[in-house]
Amino acid sequence: MTTALGDLAPRLAAALASRRQGNGYRTRTEAGPAAAPHIRVAGREYINLASNDYLGLSTHPDVVQAFRDAAAQYGVGAGASHLVTGHRHPHGELERALAALCGTPRALLFSTAYMANLGRVSTLCPRAGVVMEDRLNHASLLDAAALSPGRLVRYRHTDADDLGRRLAAAGRGPRMVVTDGVFSMDGDIAPLPDLLAVARHHGAILLVDDAHAFGVLGDHGGGTCEHFGLAPADRPIVVGTLGKAFGVFGAFVAGPESLIESLIQRARSYIYTTALPPAVAAAALVAVGLMQAEPARRAHLHALIRRLRAGARRRGLDFADSQTPIQPFLVGDEARALALAEALRLEGFWVTAIRPPTVPKGTARLRVTLSAAHTAADVDAFLDALERATRGPGD
Ligand code: PMP
Repeated sequence: MTTALGDLAPRLAAALASRRQGNGYRTRTEAGPAAAPHIRVAGREYINLASNDYLGLSTHPDVVQAFRDAAAQYGVGAGASHLVTGHRHPHGELERALAALCGTPRALLFSTAYMANLGRVSTLCPRAGVVMEDRLNHASLLDAAALSPGRLVRYRHTDADDLGRRLAAAGRGPRMVVTDGVFSMDGDIAPLPDLLAVARHHGAILLVDDAHAFGVLGDHGGGTCEHFGLAPADRPIVVGTLGKAFGVFGAFVAGPESLIESLIQRARSYIYTTALPPAVAAAALVAVGLMQAEPARRAHLHALIRRLRAGARRRGLDFADSQTPIQPFLVGDEARALALAEALRLEGFWVTAIRPPTVPKGTARLRVTLSAAHTAADVDAFLDALERATRGPGD
């Protein structure tokens, strides 16, 4: 019997079956309620080492209360896009707070950093433009270049010299250099001063995705720009997410007045979508305040990062070189990465195995992420469990 979908269902089933065989099949875990840094799955509570809630703010009582209060006042949904009637006081207040945090004249909220990246790259890149991207940039940055009218060129990971050569070869015309501030799967920090110098030399502008850096890097949590002490005149165009260290949801672009107004006029991923719920903005405003008012969270997080790295070294466990909460434990083989994650779960630690195509072939890894909500004892117990899991039975 033929159906309206033709042979679509059997074709998809065949493709899924072949993906299943290659250890590349992605599944979701439906987790229950648990306060950071825990995750509750099938009735058991685990220490969560696979979340981007770097400061443990997602379940902070003040953030939750702000969400509740604003939902009671504004309702749950914004009801319309920002340009129609969806833009409310909490959005405006949050934008002003984010501009102050970034030291820029303006900031503009987007629903997600994925959408912010699509919006800013396609708005800023003219038809004859070239978008230079680090090879390990986040998928949303690569998708942004694909959607833009410009041509995508990828340069070697964090390699300013390679970038310079490629810029020189790209010829005349508008160019932009796009990089993660902290790389999402490796945890390393982009060399912004070097990239900036090369970009400037070639008349290119620099765009940074600081999704993993806000709240984490810089004495005040201002991200990679603060980490490197960039002067205001050297600031690139920055995207941040509110879904990671701020523990909420949403995203923003920070920059000069003309940039923000251009995005409002032209960024399709800003214009043609419902505004973020006002209650989410109200919760994020409190989280931004806590992030700045409580630097002890950040200090504790960095102490845990140092503890994990020193403890791993003592135990002969080889983590990639990262000074951020993203601590990749490189495994290589996909099946082994999955088996290690499973062994850790049996010991009460929730860690995700990251496999291609999210990371290059042969570099499957455990992406371990730390949070200020963890304790030193959590870190030590995790390292003990990892040591046992890597030794395996009989070793
Ligand atoms: N950029 C980077 C570097 C990311 O890691 C992520 C999240 N994985 C995003 C952007 C997307 O952020 P959001 O969840 O706000 O869309």
